[in-house]
Amino acid sequence: MSFDFTDKNVFVAGGTSGINLGIAMAFAEAGARVAVLSRSQAKVDAAVAKLSAAREGGQALGFAADVREHALVEAALAKTQETFGPLDVLVSGAAGNFPAPAMGISPKGFRSVVEIDLLGTFHVLRAALPHMRQPGGSIINITAPQSYVPMEMQMHVCAAKAGIDMVTRVGAMEWGPLGVRVNSISPGPIADTEGVERLAPTAELRALVADTVPLKRFGTVRDIGNCCLWLASPMASYVTGTVIAVDGGWGLGGASVSVAAMKKAFMGG
Ligand code: NAP
Repeated sequence: MSFDFTDKNVFVAGGTSGINLGIAMAFAEAGARVAVLSRSQAKVDAAVAKLSAAREGGQALGFAADVREHALVEAALAKTQETFGPLDVLVSGAAGNFPAPAMGISPKGFRSVVEIDLLGTFHVLRAALPHMRQPGGSIINITAPQSYVPMEMQMHVCAAKAGIDMVTRVGAMEWGPLGVRVNSISPGPIADTEGVERLAPTAELRALVADTVPLKRFGTVRDIGNCCLWLASPMASYVTGTVIAVDGGWGLGGASVSVAAMKKAFMGG
C-alpha cells in the first residue's frame, strides 16, 4: 500500500538520524516537503541532502537548534510555514537517553532528559500549533514503552515519556475542536538506531532482547515511518489521543524481561 503526501508539509523535530530521519524519509518519498530540526549543523545538512534527493523535485529545509530553546523552535516553525505553507504533519521525536540506576543519575542528567524529551515536546507543539493546517493537521509524538512499562535504569526516561503521553492526550482534547489530531507512537526496539546501541550495546544482549519480542525480531525504522504515514493520512481521520505501540508486542511483557538482562549487563547483577 502506498500513501500520497504530494503538496503536504511535514516538520520533524529531531529528524536528522535514526527513527526520526526514517519518518522524515517516509514522508519525503511519499511526496511531502519536509523540514527537520536538530542541534548538529552537520547532521542537519546531511539530512536535508538526503531528503531533497528522496525523489525528483524533492524540497527539504533544515534548522540547527535545540528543542530546549523555545524561541529557536518558534523561529524554525515560522520559517517553515513562510517557505512551504501551513503544516499538515508535525512529528516531535527529539530525545536523549542513557542507562543508569536512579542513584547513578545526577540531577543535571535527569533534568537534561526531561528537558529534551518532555519540555522539548511541549515547545515543539506549542510553537507549531499556530502554523498547523486547521482543520486537518496531524501531530505525532514519539514516545517509548518506558511511558507505560516501569523500567529499572530508566527512571528519567520513564518520567519524561509518560509526561509526553499526557501531553498527547491533553493536546488531543484541546485541539480536536480546531481539527488537529494528536497521537503518540511508541516504537519497540528498532534495529540500527542510537537508542538500541545505548541500551543493548552487545550482539549478545541484542539477541536476548529480540527473543523477548513476541514477533521475535527488532523493528525497522520503516515500520515506524509506515505507521506515521497511516496516522497522518485521511485513513486515520477519527484517531486522536492514542498511544500506538509499534513494538512487535514488546511492551506486553518482554520489555521488563529485557530490562533485567540489561541491568545484569550494566551492573553485573
Ligand atoms: P537518535 O538517532 O539519537 O535520534 C534522536 C534525534 O534527536 C537526533 O536527530 C538528535 O540530533 C535529536 N536531538 C537530540 N537532542 C536534541 C535536542 N536537545 N534538540 C534538538 N534535537 C535533538 O535516536 P533514535 O534511537 O532513533 O530515537 C528516536 C526517537 O525514538 C526518540 O524519541 C526515542 O526515545 C524513540 N525511541 C527509540 C527506540 C529505539 O529502539 N531506538 C525505541 C523506543 C523509542 P542532534 O544530535 O543533532 O541534536
